[in-house]
Amino acid sequence: MAEDFYTLLGVRRDAGQDEIKRAYRRLARELHPDVNPDPETQEKFKEISQAYDVLSDPEKRQMYDLGGDPFGAGAGAGAGAGFGGFGAAGFPFSEFVDAVFGNAAGSAARGPKGRARRGRNATIRIELDLSECAFGATRELTVDTAVVCPTCSGEGTAPGTHPATCEVCGGRGEISEVRRSFLGQVMTTRPCPACSGFGTTLPHPCPECDGDGRVRTRRTMKVRIPAGVEDGTHIQLAGEGEVGPGGGPSGDLFLEVVQRPHAIFERQGDDLHCTLTIPMVAGALGATVSVESLDGPSDVDIRPGTQTGQVIPLYGLGVKHLNGNGRGDLIIHVTVETPSRLDPEQEKLLREFAKMRGEEAPPGKFQPGQQGFFSRLRDAFNGR
Ligand SMILES: [Zn+2]
Ligand SMILES: [Zn+2]
Repeated sequence: MAEDFYTLLGVRRDAGQDEIKRAYRRLARELHPDVNPDPETQEKFKEISQAYDVLSDPEKRQMYDLGGDPFGAGAGAGAGAGFGGFGAAGFPFSEFVDAVFGNAAGSAARGPKGRARRGRNATIRIELDLSECAFGATRELTVDTAVVCPTCSGEGTAPGTHPATCEVCGGRGEISEVRRSFLGQVMTTRPCPACSGFGTTLPHPCPECDGDGRVRTRRTMKVRIPAGVEDGTHIQLAGEGEVGPGGGPSGDLFLEVVQRPHAIFERQGDDLHCTLTIPMVAGALGATVSVESLDGPSDVDIRPGTQTGQVIPLYGLGVKHLNGNGRGDLIIHVTVETPSRLDPEQEKLLREFAKMRGEEAPPGKFQPGQQGFFSRLRDAFNGR
């Protein structure tokens, strides 16, 4: 703050709220931008508005008196008292002025506005298989959208005709009114209702688009979906949204990826996880098993002595990284299946096997928590 808020408003430091309000009104009447539009006065007006905003709020005033800067970020003594909305980014001048003066000031844009405006963005959801997400895909999309009207090329006028200057506003696109208020005469400006602020009217609108400059249509396009996208990825196709009114630039088209669940693989980031169930003997003796991956069947070596819960990573058989080279991994979670239905012959063999290893288990001998049996069993499968 260049100048002390009290000095700016011309009041004593112990001035009451009424006095501050009166002083502010008096100054605002002199300095209001609609009364006195030169830049220096406007700057001054901004300053006194800022001063008033602080001094009229007991909390902000107290902080200011304590030496804090109510407009600074995390400033001085008493910071944290809560000056929401008044960050370092600046003073919401126009809002404040609107609040105090009604809508007498603050309409920054002057003059007629152009008919051309940017088209809206659109979002389309596309469902992809896991392998399409992993390796990318090309899709043909059909979208309902708006394109430039072929009859008027976006002008909105019937062929051979031209827009006419609006008779209500004389082409300015806005209408000004002088009102009397407590500040004296205040000029209010609003968009011209006859031409919607364009400054021109279309006496002969294009018959095909009715003056909008664009027509609705269905359009197909081929899009390339990059490898590595996942559920929720948004792909931006710049300028592929609908064309704007009056031949304005097109909006963007966004593709939102929906990844279909896969029967075997669960995706975590760019890694894939699956389970593999092997028979007890294969776990004990080791085996080579063919496992389905996104790249087709892949041979996996099961080492002798493999336990339930062990993981076997197949490096580089996961999803391609979206930005850059390389791929995630395929992680196989092994489950060793205990045979559950034994015929008498098999049971006999297993009992003999247990006897050979000194692992005969009379009922009640093995209690939960007895690690010895299981570690011996494991050692047995590991061939120790
Ligand atoms: Zn047209
Ligand atoms: Zn007008």
